[in-house]
Amino acid sequence: MIDSMTCSRPAVADQGAHRRLGQHLLNVVRRQDAAIPADRRAPRTAAEMRLRQSKASGQQACGTCQGAGGRTVDSSSSGITRQGWVRCDNCQGTGRA
Ligand SMILES: [Zn+2]
Repeated sequence: MIDSMTCSRPAVADQGAHRRLGQHLLNVVRRQDAAIPADRRAPRTAAEMRLRQSKASGQQACGTCQGAGGRTVDSSSSGITRQGWVRCDNCQGTGRA
């Protein structure tokens, strides 16, 4: 009974298929996420949550990072979006002025 409940490691050949499936699913999710208007999208990061909270509470967003707190999005490559985090020194990553 126990043997039927354990999960063995995938064979080496399966790992490539699993990796491709994971990349495919990630691409599908990112495409669908990008299709949602920004004001209707659920916050995915702590910075996005803080920005939403600061807007809801009427607090002013940091002028340097526009409330992102340090989140950067680079979509300059064709079809590729890279997100990163560089802490904003002015608001110390809070996104609030
Ligand atoms: Zn800032």
